[in-house]
Amino acid sequence: MTCTNTAHIGNVCVLGIGKTGEAACRYLSGLMPGRVDSVTLFGGVNSRESEQTRALGAAGVRCVLGTEEVEGEFDLAVVSPGIPETSAFYRAAAACSAEVISEVELAFRESPANWLAVTGTNGKTTTTSLTTHLLSEAGLSAESVGNIGVLCIEEAASRPYDGWFVTELSSFQLASSPTLRPHAAVLLNVTPDHIEWHGSMEAYAAAKEKVFANMGTGDLAVVSVDDDWCRDVAVRCSGRGLRVCELSVERELGGPDAAFERGGRLVVRLGGVEHDICSVDDLRIRGSHNWENALAASALALFMGIDAEKIASGLATFSPIEHRIEPCGEAAGIHFVNDSKATNTDSVEKALTAFDAGTVVVLLGGHDKGTDLASLSRACCARARVAVCFGEAGPRMAASLKDEAAASGSALEIVCADHLRDAFAAACAEAREGDTVLLSPACSSFDEFSNMAERGRLFKSLATDYCRAHDASGAGE
Ligand code: ADP
Repeated sequence: MTCTNTAHIGNVCVLGIGKTGEAACRYLSGLMPGRVDSVTLFGGVNSRESEQTRALGAAGVRCVLGTEEVEGEFDLAVVSPGIPETSAFYRAAAACSAEVISEVELAFRESPANWLAVTGTNGKTTTTSLTTHLLSEAGLSAESVGNIGVLCIEEAASRPYDGWFVTELSSFQLASSPTLRPHAAVLLNVTPDHIEWHGSMEAYAAAKEKVFANMGTGDLAVVSVDDDWCRDVAVRCSGRGLRVCELSVERELGGPDAAFERGGRLVVRLGGVEHDICSVDDLRIRGSHNWENALAASALALFMGIDAEKIASGLATFSPIEHRIEPCGEAAGIHFVNDSKATNTDSVEKALTAFDAGTVVVLLGGHDKGTDLASLSRACCARARVAVCFGEAGPRMAASLKDEAAASGSALEIVCADHLRDAFAAACAEAREGDTVLLSPACSSFDEFSNMAERGRLFKSLATDYCRAHDASGAGE
């Protein structure tokens, strides 16, 4: 057990009764009596008594359910990531607590050694998993935790003394993690997302930047310089004397610490020593955005003392993660690729670059977040052959694509469908030999599914059925 903190915490409240709130309550109630005097759970307006709350009650947690009113006096509030800083619930907790922190911050305070961190709008899960893979393949003890779906506070108590946390961090978690100090951290990109949670693009970008706030001598900040928001962060980090490894897949970079693509090879320079890691063709994950992820993970691994050869072999054995440009079948020369995780426009623009221009039938649509579609429409007109627009956002997407196609003279074919099933059928009807049918929807899934994984699984099962039917009919010919 590596929870090394022994400080007195006092009276604590926990906000939210999802997995995070429950894990925080369990951990904190385990510190009673002694370090924690009391734990009060405020479940939120939709919370009701359940087996879960009864079990927490039996563990000594006071459960306040069915309300967002927070009353009492607390030394600490631990808030779940689903509760925005701007919400009345959060503010009510802040008003009666000495400080408000995330579950990640709680885990860091309890076990502050050996943290690496990855944040950005897109690519976090891939880069986190890849870094853990590189570290593990090189014989280190490493675990992916955080926003990737593994709660830090659950793992902190059981990780080995020499174990490393590779922590995926969302802007929500970073917003309330005031003392978090990873040994090295990556910022991959900042593009518009979650603005409704943070209140503004500036607040969203500032939350991302917090990953570097407490880092200092001996630490490494790996920062992309391919978008304006990140470039400014890199300048500010260097300005305060932090060691910065700039990251780019658009140009070769100078300086003693840099990671970039040169002539189809991934190159990382650390402390002035250049490491030619591997060819981009050695990666199983496709697209230039994945070169960025691979470069970031390689920079972290090199910083951890792993040699370039081991990194190259680790990169070569890393397979695409489910729902992220995941190949899921081929029949009659038509390839099916599930990128259900592409829930914003930037990730679709990146996904389109992973395939030859003019060979993609892209499925776009889902819950309409009201995002600006101009840049996505330009990318589709330039690279896709057919766009099938479906779901709540389908009509708005089709209209934007039509405008862009007319303005640019693109031959993009635009088809509309109600739901994913119809969209899939329409895509198959349009696809030709050599094409890729790509689900990369640019939207969240909540108009039709509970989450993006359910959407991705339906797409994969439709693809499997199509391939099976085609193979069966092909076999008889
Ligand atoms: P996150 O955890 O940040 O959502 P993922 O690794 O799960 O990131 O990838 C989500 C989607 O974002 C993928 O479907 C892919 O199309 C896209 N993506 C992955 N890496 C990047 C990157 N470095 N830049 C832009 N888009 C990316």
